[in-house]
Amino acid sequence: MTEFAAELVDVICEVTRGKAQLHIPEISGNEWINVKECLDTSWISATGGKYISQFEELLVAHTGASFAITTVTGTAALHACLILAGVSGGDEVICPAFTFVATANAVKMTGAIPHFADIDRTSLGIDATKLSEHLSKIAIRRDGKTINRESGRPISAIVCMHTFGHICDVEALASICDEWKIELVEDAAESLGSTFNGKHAGTFSRLSALSFNGNKIITTGGGGAILAADEEAADRARHLTTTARLPHRWEYDHDLVGFNYRMPNINAAIGAAQIERLEQYLGEKRHLQSMYKAAFADIDGVDLFEEPKGCRSNYWLATLVLSPGRTAERDRILERTNDAGLGCRPAWRPMHLLAPFLDSPRMELPVTEEMYGRIINIPSSPILGRKTEVA
Ligand SMILES: *Cc1c(COP(=O)(O)O)cnc(C)c1O
Repeated sequence: MTEFAAELVDVICEVTRGKAQLHIPEISGNEWINVKECLDTSWISATGGKYISQFEELLVAHTGASFAITTVTGTAALHACLILAGVSGGDEVICPAFTFVATANAVKMTGAIPHFADIDRTSLGIDATKLSEHLSKIAIRRDGKTINRESGRPISAIVCMHTFGHICDVEALASICDEWKIELVEDAAESLGSTFNGKHAGTFSRLSALSFNGNKIITTGGGGAILAADEEAADRARHLTTTARLPHRWEYDHDLVGFNYRMPNINAAIGAAQIERLEQYLGEKRHLQSMYKAAFADIDGVDLFEEPKGCRSNYWLATLVLSPGRTAERDRILERTNDAGLGCRPAWRPMHLLAPFLDSPRMELPVTEEMYGRIINIPSSPILGRKTEVA
């Protein structure tokens, strides 16, 4: 009998046809032309240039958001969203324990403290039922605020995250926010192109953050964007991320401590070219998912994670879920697959186990810990799902 880890290597290789990284960018459209124009005209910075507004308009068109404001990174976008949502130093912000560190870092960067919530197994996002029960136990409304009775600190927002592109139970989380009068912010960094009942990720909250880091479904090299639901939020987002400079022909006047967070035109030029192929990539990633699904159908001890009901996922990262009895083999599988040149990765180490967050408040996190032991992301670049023309 073939060893389990070796069997998985064979199945992945069969789909990827050999070595494959986890997720690589592809430069095959107008990137060269657009970037050359930036260089030829010397419009390369964030001060101006046509690609910033062009890319922002394309983001609005693709997401159905009312406004998009491009930023230097997704983390910067999320940091700005939290401040604009009213989060301030000494607050607590609910966020999933199962996420990339940027979610919790952005909370910390505002001076607030992340308060970790567990996830559910169907979406891998915050478990709304558990969160609701947790808040009933620990929170009270006092002086117009929601207060954590155990710490005495205000809870000012919930940040949810759409893991690997799958939309979390976002409508239930929005109701919890209504009930407790706190603001929902979506970390939609991984979910460009994903929808829930036809509504795009990042449009369930007034403010949300996208990322165009090199490993995301489309990239600007490094970059991000804030999606805003109304003009006031959009204007404030622009202001805060442009050093809070007041408009004037020559005077430098700033009315608060702002950030230099706007995306340079040269990065937006790449983004404007990349987003032209978003629909194609979405199709290829869904096709790759079906190829993996067929290949893994007869393999015991492992399942392929599938989009929750109502969600049309971008399948940013294809995800294996080991059956509970196989978790002891996770590291061996990672070793064998990586030895074979396959970019396979475990899920992120949960936030409450990371040095900067050991003292953060949290609810019980059994599903986070369980899924950390069971998940392996496998090669997911769009090209792997491309249907090649037969000559
Ligand atoms: C990629 C990512 C971010 C933002 O990352 P940047 O590298 O700063 O663009 C934030 N949250 C999650 C969950 C991510 O995956």
